[in-house]
Amino acid sequence: MGPLRNAYLDALGIDRWVPRDAPGEIPSIPEVVAASQVAAPVPHLAPANAPYVPSADWGALRERVAACTACAELCRTRTQTVFGVGNTRSEWLIIGEAPGAEEDRQGEPFVGRAGQLLNAMLLAIGLPREQVFIANILKCRPPGNRDPKPDEVSRCLPFLSNQIALLKPKIILAVGRIAAQNLLATDAPLARLRGKLHSFGDPATPLIITYHPAYLLRTPSDKRKAWEDLKLARATHARITAGA
Ligand code: URA
Repeated sequence: MGPLRNAYLDALGIDRWVPRDAPGEIPSIPEVVAASQVAAPVPHLAPANAPYVPSADWGALRERVAACTACAELCRTRTQTVFGVGNTRSEWLIIGEAPGAEEDRQGEPFVGRAGQLLNAMLLAIGLPREQVFIANILKCRPPGNRDPKPDEVSRCLPFLSNQIALLKPKIILAVGRIAAQNLLATDAPLARLRGKLHSFGDPATPLIITYHPAYLLRTPSDKRKAWEDLKLARATHARITAGA
């Protein structure tokens, strides 16, 4: 993986993500969950007028998302829905905000410049993009890349909850403020949410927050903190899968 990974990062013109120091002491999951300001798990949100009945398989869920017309503006302005991509047996779920222009065109999350950086970030902790599952809080592009509106998020979150129920990830990595705040039902700033272990849903899935790759492209000085978050995610996953 070493030379291949380096060539990949060089080809993208992206700084290599190389650990500068040995991993520090990582607290146990119960310790961190207890210490963090984790909001109550978010229930599977349902549209106000109809309870959401989860789809039992990926195909049915994909069709349902593609046919969704719950948000009048988004379904009028989208080219297509962006369901998510990757290995539906993955232990890793990566959650972003919403499709951008390129994602809306291609129907796949994180395919633009931010996506290239996300791929490099994942590869730096030994995860080729194909090995994880990647989804967004919103399945449609907000016009002009504006922030998702709260009512759009609450209409779309049942789809993400359904994806989580089908995937049963061992760990979730949320990138960016919008994903973090909506998964944790908080308006705390990202700087207070990153760098620690949270949990999402019931059954509780470990959740790590880090910066959005689009933000890191604008603010490369925060890549070092993002690297710490990625190492925390990798170590947490390793501990979970070792049965600790
Ligand atoms: N940013 C996101 O949060 N998601 C995408 O799919 C693309 C860019």
